[in-house]
Amino acid sequence: MKYIAVLFLVFFLGSASDLDLVKIDAVNMTDIKALDRNGVIINQVHPDHIVAEISKDMYRMVRSRGFNIEVIQENITEIYRQNSMMKSTRSQYLTYDTYVDSMITMATNYPAICRLDTLGYSHNNRLLLIMKISDNAETDEIEPEVHFEANVHGDEKIGWAVSFWMIRYLLENYATDTLVQRLVDTREIWIAPMVNPDGFVAHSRYNGRNVDLNRNWGWMWGDEWNCGTDFMSENEARRFVEHFWRHSFVTYVSFHAGTIYISEPWSYSTYVQPPEQNLLHHLSQGYAYFTGYPYGQGSVGMYPINGCTKDYDYGCGGEMGWSVEVCYYKTPSPDSIDPIFDRDRPAMLRLMHRAGQGIGGYVYDSLSIEPTKLRALVYVDPAGWPSYSRSANGDFHRFYLPGTYSVTVLSPGYEPKTVDSVVVPSGTPDSSVYIEVGLIPNPELPIYATDVVGTRYVSTYSNQTYPVEALGPRDGQAYKVDASKWIVLGFDWPIHDYAGNDLIVYRSSGTGSATIRVSNDWFGSWQTLGIANDTVTAFDISTVSLDSACYVRIEASSTFMLDAVEAFQEPTGVAKDDDIAAVSGIQFEIMPTVLREGDLLQVTSMRQQPLKIKLFNLLGQSLKEEVLEPGTTQFSLAGLPAGIYFLVGPDIHSSRRIILVD
Ligand SMILES: [Zn+2]
Repeated sequence: MKYIAVLFLVFFLGSASDLDLVKIDAVNMTDIKALDRNGVIINQVHPDHIVAEISKDMYRMVRSRGFNIEVIQENITEIYRQNSMMKSTRSQYLTYDTYVDSMITMATNYPAICRLDTLGYSHNNRLLLIMKISDNAETDEIEPEVHFEANVHGDEKIGWAVSFWMIRYLLENYATDTLVQRLVDTREIWIAPMVNPDGFVAHSRYNGRNVDLNRNWGWMWGDEWNCGTDFMSENEARRFVEHFWRHSFVTYVSFHAGTIYISEPWSYSTYVQPPEQNLLHHLSQGYAYFTGYPYGQGSVGMYPINGCTKDYDYGCGGEMGWSVEVCYYKTPSPDSIDPIFDRDRPAMLRLMHRAGQGIGGYVYDSLSIEPTKLRALVYVDPAGWPSYSRSANGDFHRFYLPGTYSVTVLSPGYEPKTVDSVVVPSGTPDSSVYIEVGLIPNPELPIYATDVVGTRYVSTYSNQTYPVEALGPRDGQAYKVDASKWIVLGFDWPIHDYAGNDLIVYRSSGTGSATIRVSNDWFGSWQTLGIANDTVTAFDISTVSLDSACYVRIEASSTFMLDAVEAFQEPTGVAKDDDIAAVSGIQFEIMPTVLREGDLLQVTSMRQQPLKIKLFNLLGQSLKEEVLEPGTTQFSLAGLPAGIYFLVGPDIHSSRRIILVD
């Protein structure tokens, strides 16, 4: 057994939420899953037992199911708490406050290569900080983007240390280390060491509302212990998923601890493997080369879970996503920080390097020579899982192995286009090919959903279709929405109300029916349009008094084979006032994101038409409304108290956060 020896004082004065580290003799996946659903925190799955954490009041439940419990360490929570406060000669963890100060100090000391941003606040009003490290950090350049985060589970502080140390390492070694220099100059590296600051402060796995954030994301959400009241119900998950939709990451790593494992999608099912498992394995193998961590599909190497980040990364974003479990202990002694960072550091650098390999490009409107107004879906054969261009600047980049591919690009309102014989060269760890794809606009073509925003968990024993089949135009391929389950689809260009019907739901086969709801917000409130119960069912969104809608929720009452949801484009020459408020996609960028009193806020609109934006405070009160002309406009925020504000466009792609400091 590979327990790192821990010799500690045992504390008996913990609170009710304190956990014991135990061995439970559960052996089969059904038992393990049942324990997990009852709140047992499972760290390691071995052939004849699991290593888990349980509170005092769970012993009876576990034993009543016929399992034996052997205590490995009583009150492991207290030990982690002590470790996190201990100062060893080599290293130490920081408190939340000193962490925030350190992030600000680093951003101040290295302004040329980093930008500190905040994605918003946690439930208990702590900052969700993120550091962007790149040359020209203020600019959104056409460079492969990588994301690292940690501490989704607040008690897994070693993950926080590994990612925080990486920020320091990149900044401090940029001047002297050629690999670091190359990575910072040619990538956009985002690192968020503390996704769950409330859990970090409370030494708890859960957030400030007792929700497990790694069960709250929207791919196959639900059916889990403490997974939240809805998908993305939690502030922290919402703020990170908004960040997720604003970018298109090649790789997305979330650090965890409790075991060692490089955990790949899928975690939600043992019955299906991701179609590009070879790509994931390839990159995992590179990570394992340096760390020695085993790797594989999360549901198989660990146990099945729903609503985790890596499944969303791959499922909804087409991004290579992982949970990387770096230590058997969640908050080991601070003496362990340096050796674990030394082990993971070369693997992380290698992953950033490899993220440059593959197919990159630019999708543009061949008439205007501007980026297409909407996100494009990029399908690369033979793999066939969609990835996406960004409507802000039309760029895309995805990891592929050297070889010859054909690339098909679809964007609503344009003729699709396939580029054959795209060759990813071999030679260097990040050899890539760059293609420019001009699409021909066609106002006769329908628009369609380009984003899977969220889906309810389905049993993959009987249903192995994928939600992404519902994207794009009607094509005969369907996502099977099981009875009482749902899917939320996003339109990058809103569905508009025109005379008559505006929205069409296509069913590919069967006799199923589904309730169709629409909203301008991805988490509601939802207006019910009616029931889709035919091969083609059309709806008029004015029946619910909406002029436009960006999100469609399909709730099946019986198995519904959802092929596509389509809408009409805006007829040319017709411009309604409402269009100003209804445009979608990334609309604007702001600078700076942290303002001191007297600073002016610069807002750059990327639209060619006027764009309506609103300023909200944390209570959701609208303070100001402006119509931006194209280009850059300066605003004074004089008179507003210090705090967090939100500048919001019409949907999740276009909300930016502003911190006003004293
Ligand atoms: Zn974890």
